[in-house]
Amino acid sequence: MIKILANDGISNSGIEKLEKNGFIVNTNKISQENLAEEINSENYEVILVRSATQIRKDIIDKCPNLKIIGRGGVGMDNIDVKYAQENNIHVINTPAASSSSVAELVFAHLFGMVRYLYESNRQMPMEGDTSFKKLKKSYSGGRELNGKSLGIIGFGRIGQEVAKIGIGLGMKILAHDKFIKEENITLRFFNGEKKTFTIETSKLNYVLKNSDFITLHIPKIDNKALIGAEEIGLMKTGAGVINTSRGGNIDETALMFALDKKKLAYAGLDVFDNEPTPSIHLLMHNAISMTPHIGAATLEAQDRIGIELADQIILFYKK
Ligand code: NAD
Repeated sequence: MIKILANDGISNSGIEKLEKNGFIVNTNKISQENLAEEINSENYEVILVRSATQIRKDIIDKCPNLKIIGRGGVGMDNIDVKYAQENNIHVINTPAASSSSVAELVFAHLFGMVRYLYESNRQMPMEGDTSFKKLKKSYSGGRELNGKSLGIIGFGRIGQEVAKIGIGLGMKILAHDKFIKEENITLRFFNGEKKTFTIETSKLNYVLKNSDFITLHIPKIDNKALIGAEEIGLMKTGAGVINTSRGGNIDETALMFALDKKKLAYAGLDVFDNEPTPSIHLLMHNAISMTPHIGAATLEAQDRIGIELADQIILFYKK
């Protein structure tokens, strides 16, 4: 029987599907130092990881019987993909499984920021009983999302899911993508009805200048933050920015400066430079709504990821 090590875990739905198809799945976490030895001694042919376990050249070299490396999620930064493929190892991931989870988190930040929830949740436990009226006044200048312009930078899987929710809220969608010129976005409703909207993308500067809120859905840009002081300078005064893509895509120092100077009114971050130890200045900033890289981390996404991995493994061994 073929053995699978799911070193960073896998959903029960994924395990069930694999076991029903005759695979043995082990979810015991093996430390990075002992990983190669364990893979070999236990004869694992498949290693499944999320972002924690590193599958680098050293493991690939030491484990000649590995057939599949699977990443539950999108980013493959922790896997030497090209090297694995050159060594005839099949590398799989689940790029679409968490798109709607990330898109919903964008709106959790957006709704939270325009009504100061992030700040109110910090202050209410401390002052809610002594300064209720003062806090009420502080957080009374909220805004609505309906009717506002939402600038989506990176119009791939997640960007398009964000567009669907934005359209549903009555927002005007502006999008920019390096490669995509136009995309049909289909909203499916509870009663089976659907409606398709065609969104044409625009130049980056147009989106920056004309959006009330800007959300980033691009891959990690290596050499330079896509959104730095210059790009923030083009944005509307009082705009909001959300980054759930990758730390470093927005220049954190320029962002804090823009918030302090009231150029930007809001920011929401799920990803940071130097994860897992982000800048303390950023963490202490009272105008930023923050989450610790949980964009993909919903139970529904975990289920979809487990099932997608299982399907791909089953298909591989059927061929
Ligand atoms: P995707 O590949 O489907 O879409 C990315 C889009 O960005 C593509 O359409 C591409 O053409 C475009 N693009 C690339 N470089 C660009 C540039 N310089 N300027 C403009 N557009 C550019 O990817 P996705 O699945 O939508 O993921 C988007 C981002 O979200 C990735 O960075 C991914 O790592 C991140 N992500 C974060 C979480 C989280 O937990 N917060 C979870 C999943 C994915």
